[in-house]
Amino acid sequence: MRILIVEDDRLLGAGILAGVKQAEVQADWVEDGAAALAALQSEPFSAVVLDLGLPRLSGLEVLRELRAARNTIPVLILTARDTSQDVIAGLDAGADDYMIKPFDLGELAARLRALVRRAAGSAAPLLEHGDLQLDPAARQISWQGKPVDLAPREFAVLHELLLNAGRVLTRAQIEAKLYPWGEEVESNALEVHIHHLRKKLAPELIRTVRGVGYMVPRE
Ligand code: CA
Repeated sequence: MRILIVEDDRLLGAGILAGVKQAEVQADWVEDGAAALAALQSEPFSAVVLDLGLPRLSGLEVLRELRAARNTIPVLILTARDTSQDVIAGLDAGADDYMIKPFDLGELAARLRALVRRAAGSAAPLLEHGDLQLDPAARQISWQGKPVDLAPREFAVLHELLLNAGRVLTRAQIEAKLYPWGEEVESNALEVHIHHLRKKLAPELIRTVRGVGYMVPRE
């Protein structure tokens, strides 16, 4: 999963970025509302952490524009204002959750995981697929009841494929979730990750759809 952080307070933005990265979540950070809308149009983010008081476009305006454009991406509002009016306005404008500053980074990461799994149509915290179990919070995989060691990017690839089971994901869609801005996409890396996943789990788990991409078939 890849998160967009929209926060004009530099210290806080950098802190959130470092915090979610520690939870092995890919993330990018923009500092105003207009940049947020542009980023959301160009990249397939999994969720947004949105400050309300922002330059250029306010958080509420960003949210209204997104929902008016039928963009259903999960949005978590971060607000320093402790008036419940802001929270009410945010939720009514289409936000999915909110936290009031100061907040706990671990709790923020957990709320983001919950929003992303809900958006994928699942309430259960574990992703299960046949003999496979993926725990996004503990970042653990088990296959036929036994733990399997995956590299962080292998885990990320598998997580995306499982969230989208039954749908083909293109290379570009998967890569966009693996590499934040400023990190170079390594050519062939995705093939190598898929190769390792098949070897560590099962060859038939991930299907190659020639000329398109990859999918985990629905059970
Ligand atoms: Ca602000």
